[in-house]
Formats: sequence, C-alpha cells, structure tokens
Amino acid sequence: MKGSEEMMLIGGQWIKEGMGGAIRVQDPATEEFFAEVPKASEKEVDLACKAAAEAFKVWSRSLPSERAIILSNAALELERKTEEIAELITREQGKPLREAKGEVQAAVKALRFFASRADLPVGEWRAPNHPRIVNLVKRYPVGPVAVISPWNYPVLLTAWKVAPALAAGCTVVIKPSSKTPLAVTEFVKCLVEAGIPEGVVNLVHGGGQDVGVILVNHPDIRKITFTGKTETGKMLMRLASAGLKRLTLELGGHCPLIVAADADLEAAVKGGVYRAFRNMGQVCNSINRIYVERSVYDQFVQLFVEHTKKLTIGPGLTDPDLGPMIDNEARQRVVHHIEDAVAKGAEIVYGGKIPARFEKGFFFEPTVLVNVSHEMVVLQEETFGPVAPIMAVESWEDAIRFANNSRYGLVAYLYTRDLGKALRAAELLEHGTVGINNVVGGEVEYPYAGWKESGFGFELSEHALNEFLLIKHIRLQWE
Ligand code: NAD
Repeated sequence: MKGSEEMMLIGGQWIKEGMGGAIRVQDPATEEFFAEVPKASEKEVDLACKAAAEAFKVWSRSLPSERAIILSNAALELERKTEEIAELITREQGKPLREAKGEVQAAVKALRFFASRADLPVGEWRAPNHPRIVNLVKRYPVGPVAVISPWNYPVLLTAWKVAPALAAGCTVVIKPSSKTPLAVTEFVKCLVEAGIPEGVVNLVHGGGQDVGVILVNHPDIRKITFTGKTETGKMLMRLASAGLKRLTLELGGHCPLIVAADADLEAAVKGGVYRAFRNMGQVCNSINRIYVERSVYDQFVQLFVEHTKKLTIGPGLTDPDLGPMIDNEARQRVVHHIEDAVAKGAEIVYGGKIPARFEKGFFFEPTVLVNVSHEMVVLQEETFGPVAPIMAVESWEDAIRFANNSRYGLVAYLYTRDLGKALRAAELLEHGTVGINNVVGGEVEYPYAGWKESGFGFELSEHALNEFLLIKHIRLQWE
C-alpha cells in the first residue's frame, strides 16, 4: 500500500496524514487495495474553506490575464503527465488506458479553453435612462466554491468545474469521490506547479455524507458545483438552502436513442453500441433505452448484437474495449435491473452475466435486452451499467413521446436521413443536448446542461463562466 507525501492541499500546505483517518483505494480490475489517502477531519475542512476565503480577497482582484497564464501553464503540466495520470485513472476507476488518456487530454483542453475565456468582457455600459446617469452592469466572482466531483470521469469532471471557477476569479475547495482520489490529487499538483497562489486551490478527501456535508455547510462557501446522482443533488439543494448558496447541478440521466426506418443502420448501431457500453455504461450520457421503428427493428437488433459480441473485456491496463465496473455494488445494481426486466418478460439476447474467466475484478458482460416495456426498472432508472434495452416503436411520434416520458432530461440521440424530421424531433425533445446522427457529447465549446431532474445550471462554454459570477448594477449620476 503506498501513499505519497502530497495528498491534501490546505492553504498551500500539502498534508500526508489526515486527522479524519485514511481512505483505502481499490483497483476494480484486481479488487486489490493498492493505495490510501488521508481523510479530512472537520477541522481540516474548516481550514481549507478559511484558506479559500482568505485567498479570494486577492485572487478575485487578480488580472484575468494572470489567471489565464496559470491555467495555460497547468494545461502544459497536465499534458506532460498524461501517461502517468491516465494510468492512475485506470487503476482506481477501471476504464481502458486509451480512454483514460482521452480523459486527461480533454481536461487539458478544458484548462486551455477557460484560459482563453478568462478575459471575456465582464461588464456592459448600458444605454442611459436619464440625461445625467451612467449605468454600468458588472460581473464579480461569487466567492469560494465547493467543487464536488464523481468517480466516473474524476479528472475531467473536476477540470470542467475548476477551470471556469478559477478563470472567473473564484477560489476552490475540491472534494473528489473517495473512490477515485488519486488522479485528482495529481491534477491539483499540476495547478500548484503552474504557480497557483496559496489557498486559491484546496483539496480535501473524504466521503460525501461526512466531509462533503461539512464542506457544503461551511459558512465561507458561497457556491457549490456538483456532479453526481440526482438524489445527492436534491440533498445538496436542501443543504444549500440554509445559506442560500448558489448551485450548479449536473445529475443523472436516462438517455434515449431513437432510430428511424430511413436511418443509416450501420452508423446507428455503431453509435449505439459505443454510447451504451463505453466506460461500462458508467457515463451520465450513456444510452439507456433504444427505440427503433418497427420495420427495421429485427435488422437493428441483429446488427447490434453482432457489434456487441466484438467488444473485448479485460483489465483496463491491457487496453480492451471494456474494463471492469467501479465496484460490486454498481455491478449488483446491473444484476438487479436485468433480473427485474426478465421477471417482467424481457429476453436477454446477449450477455447478462459475470464473465466466468475472471476470478477477480468487477467485470460484467455487455448486455442486450429485447421484449422490454416501460414498467421495467431498467427503462426508468439510471442503470449506470452496460445494459442496452431495445424496443420496437410503431411511429416516430411514439418514439419522441417515450423519449420525453422520463424524469430525466440530459441527452437524447437520434438517427435518420430526413433532416427535417430530425430537426422537428430536436425541437420537441425535453433534453439539454440532442445528438443527430452522432453520439458525441460534452464538448468544451458548447453548453452542457441537464433539463428536468438531470440538473440545472451550465457546464462548459462561456455559459459556465457565468455560473461563477454575480451581477452588480452601478448607477452613477454625474452632476
Ligand atoms: P454521488 O452522488 O454518489 O457522488 C458524487 C460526489 O458527491 C462524490 O464526491 C460524493 O462523495 C459526493 N457526495 C455524496 N453525497 C454527498 C452529500 N450528502 N453531500 C456532499 N457531497 C456528497 O455520484 P457518483 O456515484 O459518484 O456518480 C455517478 C452519478 O453522477 C450518476 O448518477 C451520473 O449520471 C452522474 N453524472 C452526471 C454527469 C453530468 O454531467 N450530468 C456527469 C457524470 C456523472
């Protein structure tokens, strides 16, 4: 078991031993506990928040160009450490190595993007409503921010929050998931190497129910930016209401794929298989249900199974298509969703089991279900696992109605060659992102936001900066 000297960062000081004990980190491919990090006590969270509040007094008034230089330097440092950090992601999270590298590269891009947006206009000179009045509308950083991130993309999702927060002039206290604390710690080291001043970035480790709650409740925290489960997001809203703290919530999804009879079926299948099973379905924008027009349904299912069969499974470090799931609890949820579906009449046409050849590790076969109905849990709740239920629909209108019939509204995908039909559907879909003839999601240049119970507030693009800024109207009478 190893642990580095630099684990939690509080007011510019690295701490190895936490006063709250230690957290063991497990490799989901081997089930070995291979590292540990200190767990923060209430006192350490308090010190981190106070350090962020003290540093805010200076950082919030720093020049945007200075902040941009530090973010750009951090991007260079992170880029230099891509291999090393990717390996850590794979070890603690399980995803294939090339995907872990892709995650680090996307985090580099986020740092560069927000470096380039740090000096966006921060105010407006508004038209006067009186002859001797000047109206200025200015934006100001909101204050110290609690950054709470999940385990499925630990570095990327932390970067999506930290980069705009710092660019806007906020200071941060980061609490990564206790399942994946290692790579985020390396990410923070890159910011330190890049010259971030003491106290501007702080890092504490711990569970959500204890350290997370203490952090969110801390009086110096003015804003919470969170990615995680919808249920946790609701709890955070309740906690944040006590101090009327601002929130950005990126929550769960239950994303539909709609396939029209006129679609390029090969492309739809390829996109569907990729987006249903990537990172073992442990992605907020994973495809959770597939609606296919009846006339091409049989052909679609056959092709979908053919493509799924080709996916390789193994430890992430051997770079297969699919690694293990994060832990046994996550895998048991998948088993439960499949059992519930089968009990209600679903048929497993591929997968459905723990692969026998692995003695250790939280592996599971990518699973394709047919004969599914909306009463099944898998059609309603986020499985967060490698399960693709496919349903035949009688019309395009039915598919859109079904796609909207969910408490979630994160991403919807559709494939059709009729672009008029596609755009009409895009207008009607109650989701923050709509992918037409592609399954690409979460690009830093464009806003990413959940509708309904998938959250509120924006991540990515210039919109993300405004999540960290307050508006002030200055009314000046000059004589
Ligand atoms: P989670 O809600 O269990 O935990 C997320 C983070 O919140 C962790 O750091 C955890 O320690 C912390 N936390 C938990 N309870 C807390 C509390 N009471 N107070 C403060 N902090 C608390 O989620 P998870 O299992 O880590 O992540 C998976 C979920 O994240 C899925 O539902 C997925 O859809 C969602 N997700 C959403 C997006 C998006 O952009 N919409 C992206 C990725 C993941």
